[in-house]
Amino acid sequence: MITKLVILDRDGTINHDSDEYVKTAQEWTPMPGALEAIARLNHAGWHVVVASNQSGLGRGLFDVAALNAMHAKMHKMLGAVGGRVDAVFFCPHSPDENCSCRKPASGLFEQIGERYGMDLKGVPALGDHLRDLQAAIAVGCEPHLVMTGKGAQYKGQSNLPKDFPANTQAHVDLSAFVDWLLLKTQAAAKSSAKATQTSHSAGSSA
Ligand SMILES: [Mg+2]
Ligand SMILES: [Zn+2]
Repeated sequence: MITKLVILDRDGTINHDSDEYVKTAQEWTPMPGALEAIARLNHAGWHVVVASNQSGLGRGLFDVAALNAMHAKMHKMLGAVGGRVDAVFFCPHSPDENCSCRKPASGLFEQIGERYGMDLKGVPALGDHLRDLQAAIAVGCEPHLVMTGKGAQYKGQSNLPKDFPANTQAHVDLSAFVDWLLLKTQAAAKSSAKATQTSHSAGSSA
């Protein structure tokens, strides 16, 4: 069973976003350090999945073949730096289809939970848009905002707008999020090792 899972948004989180939509593999370009950051997660034992609204499909701006080509490029570029994304979960619908998977709805997250057979409670989820975090908290994920893409507007602000979940943590980019997560898990591992040591010595002195 997989316990170390991270859920990432795609546009504005891993790759550069565009107001005209990312429509082709050529237009899909990773942000500096993003792929290397995913590789660092993998090397520390984390599985990474993507949850992405792709309403450009529903709007007829590109087709599934083009989306597959974008993801083939992503997987290939990731592989070149030693990284891996397990799967890409995407919503193909336009907003007026009122589906249950377009974030802020939680359908993609529920699909991920089902696929992995796990409760997503406490699973870190990172996105650049409020709706990414709303979808995440609906299934109990830990909400993280990245201040790239749409999130760049919050850079330098001391407080996030009130509609963000109260426990939202903000990071300058994907790489900073990974630094934070790896540091946190290292610290947790250290303190649990210490606790084991303490209980051993307590046992031997008894
Ligand atoms: Mg995004
Ligand atoms: Zn959908």
